[in-house]
Amino acid sequence: MKVLKFGGSSVANPENIIKIKNIISKYEDQIILVVSAFGGVTDHLLEAGTLASTQDESYKKVLATLEERHLTATKQLLPVNAQSRVLSKVKSEFNELETLLEGAFYIGEITPRLSDRIVSFGELLSSYIISEYLKSEQLDAEFKDSREIIITQKLNGKNMVNFAKTNANCIAYFKASNAKITVCPGFISTSEEGNSTTLGRGGSDYTAAIYAAALDAEILEIWTDVSGMYTANPKMVKQAKAIPHISYEEAMELSHFGAKVLYPPTIQPVLSKGISIVIKNTFDPEANGTLITKSKNEKGKTVRGISHIGNIALISLEGPGMVGIPGISKRFFEVLSQADISVVLITQASSEHSICVGISADDVEKAVHIVNEAFEYEIERGRIKTVIPEKDLAIVALVGDNMKSHQGLSGKMFSTLGKNNVNIRVIAQGASERNISCIIDQKDVKKALNALHEEFFEENIKQLNLFVMGVGNVGAKFLEQIRSQRKFLKENLKLNIRVIGMSNSRTMFFDEKGIDLNTWQEKLANGQKADKSKFLELVNTLNFRNSIFVDNTASEDVSTSYSEYLGNSISVVTCNKIACSSAYENYAHLKSLARSYNAPFLFETNVGAGLPIIDTLKHLIASGDKILKIQAVLSGSLNFVFNNFNDTTTFHDVVKQAQEEGYTEPDPKIDLSGVDVMRKILILARESGNVLEISDIKNNPFLPEESLKTTNNEDFFASLIKHEPHFQNLYASAKNADSKLKYVAQYDNGVASVGLQEIPKGHDFYNLEGSDNIVLFYTERYPNQPMIIKGAGAGADVTASGIFADIIRIGNF
Ligand code: ADP
Ligand code: ASP
Ligand code: MG
Repeated sequence: MKVLKFGGSSVANPENIIKIKNIISKYEDQIILVVSAFGGVTDHLLEAGTLASTQDESYKKVLATLEERHLTATKQLLPVNAQSRVLSKVKSEFNELETLLEGAFYIGEITPRLSDRIVSFGELLSSYIISEYLKSEQLDAEFKDSREIIITQKLNGKNMVNFAKTNANCIAYFKASNAKITVCPGFISTSEEGNSTTLGRGGSDYTAAIYAAALDAEILEIWTDVSGMYTANPKMVKQAKAIPHISYEEAMELSHFGAKVLYPPTIQPVLSKGISIVIKNTFDPEANGTLITKSKNEKGKTVRGISHIGNIALISLEGPGMVGIPGISKRFFEVLSQADISVVLITQASSEHSICVGISADDVEKAVHIVNEAFEYEIERGRIKTVIPEKDLAIVALVGDNMKSHQGLSGKMFSTLGKNNVNIRVIAQGASERNISCIIDQKDVKKALNALHEEFFEENIKQLNLFVMGVGNVGAKFLEQIRSQRKFLKENLKLNIRVIGMSNSRTMFFDEKGIDLNTWQEKLANGQKADKSKFLELVNTLNFRNSIFVDNTASEDVSTSYSEYLGNSISVVTCNKIACSSAYENYAHLKSLARSYNAPFLFETNVGAGLPIIDTLKHLIASGDKILKIQAVLSGSLNFVFNNFNDTTTFHDVVKQAQEEGYTEPDPKIDLSGVDVMRKILILARESGNVLEISDIKNNPFLPEESLKTTNNEDFFASLIKHEPHFQNLYASAKNADSKLKYVAQYDNGVASVGLQEIPKGHDFYNLEGSDNIVLFYTERYPNQPMIIKGAGAGADVTASGIFADIIRIGNF
């Protein structure tokens, strides 16, 4: 004997019911087929009951729709000649249902007994129609009303199964029945007094388990709309996978903590008989599903699944009157239990100053009221504080048999949540240590589940979610590099990089699933109007784990938003130098936000484009070295200019060429005046641990006063022509000294300066080509022979790759 249960979505429509027939036709054994109401019907019946009891006539509409649905299903499933008898039975059930609802409507109330009677029609109708359909398909099927078998009795106000009577009924009935397939309604039962009762929402699983246990079935098969019990709810975590094999206890713990795929009480009856459960997918019958059996205490995975329960509220009983006084917690829990409020999670501070419980938010008003009433005496005397609830919370739990023998799991759980800015309100660990749970804000649930899933189940693949502002020269190259490297990164570095949002100065575009980088130009062009605050708001609302804001602009306005990203635990990667060379206070504030919120703030490309200058500096300092002196040529633009300028060219023409070829800022004066180099040496000095402002840097400009004073490019270029002799003099002087002109930045003993220098042959700077940069670090460990970093220091491609490198650093963080 096998017991098979098909849930609401598996029987939602005739098409699915035909799938069930195809599945069960292959069974040779005798089977009991337990079915739920057609998907959604129980909710509609409850809705109709509530509407009727509030004397809202629209219950009739709900009823009519339900009737129509059942009649249509009957017509679609049965051949015409077999329809009329079944249709009239269905109609007569609906007539009875209508009378019951009318009763509720006229009295203006609905009792639990009437409500149970009303919802019982869902399973009754579905099982009857399905049994008739199977018969019409020439299968040896019979219908049996579970209310004639499963008997409940009231215990502490709740309907509990009376197993003695139920098992006896079950054995007696099936002993006498020879049908190969017996179709039974799930969920419904009868009280000892003979009234219809139910086994709780989701209770059809339990019905099937009761039959399986009573009859010592070979197996209990739960057929549903997913391929087993997953490592996390697959509707919340896309990467979740079906767990092939799990113990009864683990499955019970997961279902208690929200894995709805199995109704928690289901396991108990089969566990005591050692009957295995298998969870299978009606829509993918070939998939293996999940096998639930006795624990084999296998070594292996510590965390088996992650589950969550939403709609949780927290109430805390606290105050000095609780310390050392026995009986307070007993009273607290008694009050809750008498009011039929079930406690999902408990923690008590060791000082005994507070007890905190998580309950369903639906019960919270009642709970607060009765607890405040019960402790009125203590509250009035200030010994206990008035209970104030906290709402909009959820429980997230890690579950696994082997967790008890492993240290560090909770540390890993909480640091993962912390890194993603998920605030943890309460922590609890079950005594069995099969479960570590915590309460967090409801809004963070999806992020928390995904981050934990990534940490515990996808150790190999980490997803990074990028929000890119600025898709010009550098930005476009960066997107192209991600596009072509994605596969490599996934396979080799186990990083899955997705661009979720992007913006230029005109439009912005978001795609939660990741923007297709083959067609981003088109998507962005048709996106919504660009808006910096809206962009930030969207990034925050999406609330993705491992979010990174990438600034590829040169905009001061954009740079002012970094603090808001970092403050929300969103990392920032930028090639924009403005923030790091702004007031020291701002720079330090951003660095401190990055530390407090565990969100890296990286700006490697601020100095030397893609060269690993800042990263190297950080490593030197972190390993205990001390920077004594920095000498550097940091302007690719100026290097280009002075490498091409000689007595056969004019300074004006070379600068013009540099501007046209993209080697200078759009406003070339920023480069030629030395401002850009000042910013860079300032950042290096700060990263070496010094407190410095831009005004502290000595700048010996080589441009004539008049050129410096110009306010637009046209005047600037005109002044270069006018002062050509000045530039030729600079060149001639260097040439006479057998030297080359280089624009050098220096930091030495607390003093930073920038300026044009004549570099003699043999010097490290002498042979610097094209737009290359070079940095010499003199440190305690490299006092005489400096550490040298040299290479292309400008250009969109290398800058983009520097940004990319920062992203990868975050991925490995
Ligand atoms: P049925 O109607 O077949 O009884 P349910 O809706 O009660 O189905 O349960 C199946 C649903 O449980 C899935 O569609 C899924 O959304 C949800 N679920 C929650 N947690 C898990 C989990 N860990 N594994 C599988 N499904 C889960
Ligand atoms: N139909 C019931 C419900 O929706 C029982 C079940 O489907 O398991 O709760
Ligand atoms: Mg269910």
